[in-house]
Amino acid sequence: MRLIFLGSPGAGKGTQAAVLRERHSVAHVSTGDILRDNVRGGTPLGKTAREYMDSGRLVPDDVIIAMMEERLAQADCKKGFILDGFPRTVPQAEALDVLLERLGIVVDAVVLFDVPDELVVERLTGRRVCGNCGAIFHAVFKKTSVPGICDLCGEEVVQRDDDSEEVVLKRLEVYKKQTTPLTGYYERKKTLVRVDAGQCGAKVVADIEKAVGRRNDIDQER
Ligand code: AMP
Repeated sequence: MRLIFLGSPGAGKGTQAAVLRERHSVAHVSTGDILRDNVRGGTPLGKTAREYMDSGRLVPDDVIIAMMEERLAQADCKKGFILDGFPRTVPQAEALDVLLERLGIVVDAVVLFDVPDELVVERLTGRRVCGNCGAIFHAVFKKTSVPGICDLCGEEVVQRDDDSEEVVLKRLEVYKKQTTPLTGYYERKKTLVRVDAGQCGAKVVADIEKAVGRRNDIDQER
């Protein structure tokens, strides 16, 4: 399974990628997670990225492309991968095409997560994340049993700096301007499949598996 997940912040890409990673034993490659690890670790990459991330803007293409060249060459990606949050601009998509061709890899599908803006704002501003194990909760829809404490590991759950309403609105604006052109890019390549990401998680996962299976069948018939 080799998939690219496309969709606005808060569309559920990370959540569904984590489920599919377990079901299909593939690598879940989230550029946001890699960048956040680097910010936490105080690396040069993290220092460069932090200011962009905190204000909801995109980290420059050359930084992200170099980071992903290194990540996709790692052994765990050989069995398959889900790219979550990359590419996010046309130059990134073009660089990815070159990279995949060099590595001799063909992607099964680009999955577009369709979700209305209001739902995204509601999901993201209420999102709470465990600072230790990364488990995701929601202040209204998926509360922790003890307020502010992770159900899984007992550490503190917090709001991400970029999940404040002001930054969420900026991230949505950036998505519309810089990432939505990728829909046309992948439609022209006939690799795009759409899923209704406003449904419950299990249904989204089932729809992705169905769509990818169908695409693979079509490819085999060719
Ligand atoms: P995410 O967790 O995917 O919402 O990403 C959080 C933040 O990381 C984004 O708002 C960007 O600042 C940065 N980021 C993640 N992926 C990319 C990317 N492919 N290109 C540029 N910036 C990115």
